[in-house]
Amino acid sequence: MLAQVIVDVPLMQTDKPYSYRVPKALAGLMQEGIRVHVPFGKANRLIQGIVVALSDEEEPTDIKEIAEILDYRPVLNQEQLWLAGQMRKTVFSYKISILKAMLPNLLNSTYDKILHAGAGLSDEDRREIFATKEEVRFSDLDVDNQARVMRLAQAGKIEVEYLAKDKKQIKTEKWYRVCHERLSQYEISNRAKKRQMLKEELLKQEEPAPLSQLKERYSSEIIHYFEENGLISVWEEEVSRAQNYFDNVEASQALTLNPEQAIAVREITSMIGRESQTYLLQGVTGSGKTEVYLQVIDQVLQDGKTAIMLVPEISLTPQVTNRFISRFGQQVAILHSGLSDGEKYDEWRKIERGEAQVVVGARSAVFAPLKNLGAIIIDEEHEASYKQDSNPRYHARDVAKLRAEYNRAVLVLGSATPSLESRARASKGLYGLLTLQKRANPLARIPRVDIIDFRDYIGRQETSNFTPPLLEKIQEKLARKEQVVLMLNRRGYSSFVMCRDCGTVDQCPNCDISLTLHMDSRSMNCHYCGFQKGIPHTCPNCQNPSIRYYGTGTQKAYDELQQLIPEARILRMDVDTTRKKGAHEDLLGRFGRQEADILLGTQMIAKGLDFPNVTLVGVLNADTALNLPDFRSSERTFQLLTQVAGRAGRADKEGEVLIQTYNPHHYALAFAKNQDYEGFYRYEMAIRRNLGYPPYYFTVGLTLSHKSEEFVMKKAFETVAVLRGNLTEYIQILGPTPKPVARTHNLYHYQIILKYRKEDNVEQVLNQILDWTQEKEQKDLRLIIDNEPQQMM
Ligand code: ADP
Ligand code: ZN
Repeated sequence: MLAQVIVDVPLMQTDKPYSYRVPKALAGLMQEGIRVHVPFGKANRLIQGIVVALSDEEEPTDIKEIAEILDYRPVLNQEQLWLAGQMRKTVFSYKISILKAMLPNLLNSTYDKILHAGAGLSDEDRREIFATKEEVRFSDLDVDNQARVMRLAQAGKIEVEYLAKDKKQIKTEKWYRVCHERLSQYEISNRAKKRQMLKEELLKQEEPAPLSQLKERYSSEIIHYFEENGLISVWEEEVSRAQNYFDNVEASQALTLNPEQAIAVREITSMIGRESQTYLLQGVTGSGKTEVYLQVIDQVLQDGKTAIMLVPEISLTPQVTNRFISRFGQQVAILHSGLSDGEKYDEWRKIERGEAQVVVGARSAVFAPLKNLGAIIIDEEHEASYKQDSNPRYHARDVAKLRAEYNRAVLVLGSATPSLESRARASKGLYGLLTLQKRANPLARIPRVDIIDFRDYIGRQETSNFTPPLLEKIQEKLARKEQVVLMLNRRGYSSFVMCRDCGTVDQCPNCDISLTLHMDSRSMNCHYCGFQKGIPHTCPNCQNPSIRYYGTGTQKAYDELQQLIPEARILRMDVDTTRKKGAHEDLLGRFGRQEADILLGTQMIAKGLDFPNVTLVGVLNADTALNLPDFRSSERTFQLLTQVAGRAGRADKEGEVLIQTYNPHHYALAFAKNQDYEGFYRYEMAIRRNLGYPPYYFTVGLTLSHKSEEFVMKKAFETVAVLRGNLTEYIQILGPTPKPVARTHNLYHYQIILKYRKEDNVEQVLNQILDWTQEKEQKDLRLIIDNEPQQMM
């Protein structure tokens, strides 16, 4: 018997499976979709692979043998093997990377298994396998016994525990306890103000607490000092979150739908199990899209089928997941990036065994191994995060479409501001279009939006982030005990360090980009490669001490606001304050309990928040995303402003939105002011048609990278020549040009962009170029082929 195996060799990738002989002892255990270890290359190093086909062909004599099988039943089912083949037509990375994306990490890096005797194991089997031991390693057994173990595992008589290469299976968190006796007697110099402060604070503390809470306010050195001197004791605890999701969630009942919602639910559910159909559910913020999703899923479950609910990672908050758990209880599995590899594997197993029927998760949950899918729902379908920006570069929407076809399931795309691509398909009748025009809560109205022209206030010292009208409005709301959400758009915007004398900006040594100032960790960080160093006190170029810190982020806005309105209780939410696990939820929880008046944050506050007491939303700077060299920048700005505006006035209190901008007349702002999606759609579509961009044209981005600029430039021109030689004259080939950030990680990047309406050979030619970069002569040349890129930079 021969097995066709797709192997996982990073430096020499190919979609061609390799043939291996199946040893007799393993013959009865071979199945498509299981993982194996096979010898590879001259050194016969053992590597992991996936069996994609089996055959009874004549065996060539010089063929290698499968060394070991890792699974006693398939980890990839027939649908997934089919899916990988389909995805490969639009995703230009090798099949192995697509297959790996469908598996929990733990299974991609398994190196061994630990066996435990299960119930019903006979004395003989126990003796043969375990001898006198409680547990044994799979790799310590001979081939015959390995086969025996597999059969016993299949029959449930042996339990198998996977071991991964790295130890990330278990997540831990540091906790500390105050050593009161020692601390109360310990002398701390009066000059060490911060240490004094911490001592005072700790003396009042009885209970153990997570160390992260101290780290929010004290530097690592101070905390370390207390630990070193035995004033606090620190230890690590394992944290498991998966199960916590189900604690304290009250059951909820279906709401009575309003007429618009009822039509949507009826229309969608009428198609379940009949044929695959895609719907665009376009509903203004607060129109009750989620209730539609819930009732569609309810019907799916009643039909004995299963459902996937995708939400953007950032809105995967308890507020959102609780709505699904409270309706469907233990039938729900949550796939969250905050889970450890071990926890993710447990959730995956629960789904795979059929113990969960509804999966709620971010992008990769689209691969959840649910059988008999009835519906896939994608909330906020316009979100760029549904496209993975590393290999394999798939779009969850496309994968969902394929799975819906395979299962004859419905696909529902929901948004208040659909992507132009989806809306255009709905307009052409390819998708069913369902609209919700009113807010579901009859007392809630769409908020009023006003635009403030920043230029009217330039030069007034007190208004670097806050114009007088915005400040006045904030104070008015606080006086009425209502809450305020403020958004600082940080895209393309960061804090940096510049010399006032020579103008030098402190830059990353590996990348053509300025280092970002982080006040909380007191460091300069590169957002591309992770380079980190201390904050300079003199100019790195001219050694002049007149260096200045240009902090433009939330930190600065926070400080400013606190000074302007000292009595306000402000919460700051950005990458810095939410880096720790659970911090995001914690901040939202505090705001929800009205322990703060103002929530000040980046884009992450725009999504999905539903706080009835919020009556004012302020956007501090609407422009930063407008000026980016990307044809989607207007669309993104419009979407963001509409989303954030939707956070105001969600209950009976009227909501208001104020947007500060330098471009009050830009169409994206004008349409956002009127909350006019239809107007924006028509206007933007005309622009896309004129400039030849999606959805009128298909686009592909190619990025070539190498440590030698000369080499990568030469290869980029060769690539263009291959493209021109093999494609028609109708395709537009832009470039090669250096990327806007031309060097990162010490690699130079050149990009080529393809635009076309109809071109038969694109797939084939791009794959040919991909294979070409795998050849040895290309010396570490890296190529990324991004189909329908979401970032044009
Ligand atoms: P969306 O997802 O469209 O932004 P939500 O589903 O969050 O809107 O609904 C907004 C609010 O309206 C929620 O508080 C929700 O409980 C409520 N709601 C939704 N549908 C109904 C309904 N049919 N009757 C009463 N309240 C509803
Ligand atoms: Zn860097």
